[in-house]
Amino acid sequence: MNIVVVGTGYVGLVTGTCLAETGNKVTCIDIDKSKINKLSGGAITIYEPGLEEIFLRNLKAGRLVFSTNLEDVISGATIIFLALPTPPGADGSADLKFILEVSLKVGKLLTDYKIIVNKSTVPVGTADKVRVAISENYSGLFDVVSNPEFLREGVAVDDFMKPDRIVIGTTSERAKKIMSELYSPFVRQGNPILFMDERSSELTKYASNSFLATKISFMNEISQICERVGANVDLVRLGVGSDERIGKSFLFPGIGYGGSCFPKDIKALIKSSDEVGYDFIILKAVERVNIFQRKYLIEKVKSYFKDDLKGKHFAIWGLSFKPNTDDIREAPALTIIEELLSLGASICVYDPEAMANVKNKFGNRVLYADNQYKAIVDVDALIIATEWHEFRTPNFDLMIKSMGEKRVIFDGRNLFEVEAIQKLGFTYISIGRK
Ligand code: NAD
Repeated sequence: MNIVVVGTGYVGLVTGTCLAETGNKVTCIDIDKSKINKLSGGAITIYEPGLEEIFLRNLKAGRLVFSTNLEDVISGATIIFLALPTPPGADGSADLKFILEVSLKVGKLLTDYKIIVNKSTVPVGTADKVRVAISENYSGLFDVVSNPEFLREGVAVDDFMKPDRIVIGTTSERAKKIMSELYSPFVRQGNPILFMDERSSELTKYASNSFLATKISFMNEISQICERVGANVDLVRLGVGSDERIGKSFLFPGIGYGGSCFPKDIKALIKSSDEVGYDFIILKAVERVNIFQRKYLIEKVKSYFKDDLKGKHFAIWGLSFKPNTDDIREAPALTIIEELLSLGASICVYDPEAMANVKNKFGNRVLYADNQYKAIVDVDALIIATEWHEFRTPNFDLMIKSMGEKRVIFDGRNLFEVEAIQKLGFTYISIGRK
């Protein structure tokens, strides 16, 4: 099939690359010229395990091309995917300006039947708005389909190639048939394609993210209780997660959820609920808990240093919002950096993939280390903000050498066993454990 993907960010690039891998001819469009030039020249623009290899293979084979001109490629396409940003507006609602601008443009360019598929996370009713925008300039046949994306950054290729489920919101038989054909290589193991109406499909994405965020905030509250009653949240987590009705994932306490999706999607669903006269009590609490938890580690730091961080020097391990990505959007580490700087501390940071993005944001306001051990030389304390694998089993001898006598760790991700690390002479402060 001939596919166009509009918006070549995390979702668009993964979608385009994986669809090319199954034999489709894909053109990825973006307004960012430098991004398109880089990609056309064979340089990948995001870090995502396994993506570069598939990207290069399909680029070479000519199945994957990049362009800034939608008008040049739209006529040959069967499906046009929208993988555009839906950032939070001032009131928390999802801002649809990118989606509607592009929809208007698509309407001006259409000359025959096409399927416009929305992969962005959008409020219920957006498919109708897209239809109206296209119809302003085009009166022929077309279908608008909701196809929310569930990939997780860090394992995005795997998630796209082997999805738990594919959700497709449409009542058009013609669109259903084409979408089934497109996705048939991705559901060979019996994972379902769930067809439903557009509104249910649009809401499914928000409901999924909101439920996962609820699990995180719930466990963060349990961790608060653990600290107060002398229980160990890791043991409680195992006990709770072994119940298959609950499941093991998303039960890790920490420094709150971040990233480009959860914070904005939770806000957007709260706003949508308010708009239809429903007070989404649980979700409002989920957000409140997260805001509290995001500041919690820094409160521990402040309390340890008796509210005097002026002139103190910290290392931060981990800057991306989660491991295996270079994405720093709404990453808890950024809040920690801002707060420490505002209190007069200096900081040296290290992350395996996200350093360039952090440099773009903070410039020379912080120091950058080549590796995790250089970051901790002579620090007053180390703060762990992302659970990259390489931080889990560090060379403790090297750590001791670099940190010297002041061996203090604030661990926002509970990477180490408390007793074991204390035996090595570290003062170790983590979440939900004594
Ligand atoms: P992103 O910011 O990484 O990418 C969006 C891209 O769209 C950018 O490259 C931008 O330059 C481009 N763009 C903006 N306006 C454009 C226009 N008029 N024409 C062409 N290109 C344009 O965003 P993302 O993380 O890929 O997210 C896209 C959508 O997918 C959002 O709604 C998000 O909520 C949703 N989503 C994201 C993830 C994720 O893990 N990142 C997962 C599931 C769903």
